[in-house]
Amino acid sequence: MGEKKKYTIVYDRPSCIGAAACEAVDSLRWKIADSDGKADLIGGIEKGEEPGTFILEFDEDDLEKVKESAEVCPVNVIHIYDSDGNKII
Ligand code: SF4
Repeated sequence: MGEKKKYTIVYDRPSCIGAAACEAVDSLRWKIADSDGKADLIGGIEKGEEPGTFILEFDEDDLEKVKESAEVCPVNVIHIYDSDGNKII
């Protein structure tokens, strides 16, 4: 059995408009914060060099689901990169 392919979500939280489409698609990964109405990436880690940008690694089993949440975001602030750094969406 080979290793599963890894991908990374890169989420630009300051640009989120709180449309909640991501949460509707994938409530295990996205949750609208009570504090400011923007989506939190559950388990995401804030990039030190880019405050407000959160990253989270996942494997290929979840790719379709994560892609769907990125596609439904009306302001395209959810991006996915493969382990070679190629942008998927
Ligand atoms: S779908 Fe996009 S704009 Fe809407 S809450 Fe999620 S990240 Fe924010």
